[in-house]
Amino acid sequence: MKIIPYITNEEIEECRKLLHEDYQDCKVRIYHNRIKFLIDYIIKIAFEPSELMNYFKCASTGFYHPSLNEVWIPIFSYRNKNPRYVKLEVILTLYHELRHHYQWNKKPKLAQKRGVLNVKDKGYSADPTERDANRFASRMINKYKDEISNILNVYPEWYVDL
Ligand SMILES: [Zn+2]
Repeated sequence: MKIIPYITNEEIEECRKLLHEDYQDCKVRIYHNRIKFLIDYIIKIAFEPSELMNYFKCASTGFYHPSLNEVWIPIFSYRNKNPRYVKLEVILTLYHELRHHYQWNKKPKLAQKRGVLNVKDKGYSADPTERDANRFASRMINKYKDEISNILNVYPEWYVDL
């Protein structure tokens, strides 16, 4: 079965280029295919069944991996949603995860404050690295909403406040 992407890699790269140069120097992997994602995860990261289950349940939208210095975005996890908002959510995740990259490289003291937290744990959104990443992502989305709308050719209600 051919998978029709909600959003292309080119669109994602164009949206990334709106950010400062500090956000350009890590690899972003976009996965449209769950099986390819799972195989890469096991090969490059670890065999962690509980973590992998999150991707079967579509419970995770992306992550930044510091030692690989890569952002991974499993787009298959965004299935069943309104395509206009899927695009917005992908860019929001992209900016959020790129901010984690920035934290590790430019604000190591903040990055090290991060607890070992899972998305579902209590306190996850109160973690200082998460709050910083959410604030950054919503600030950038609001700042560049016209440019992002033009790149993606979608015009939803854009104001984001995380
Ligand atoms: Zn995060």
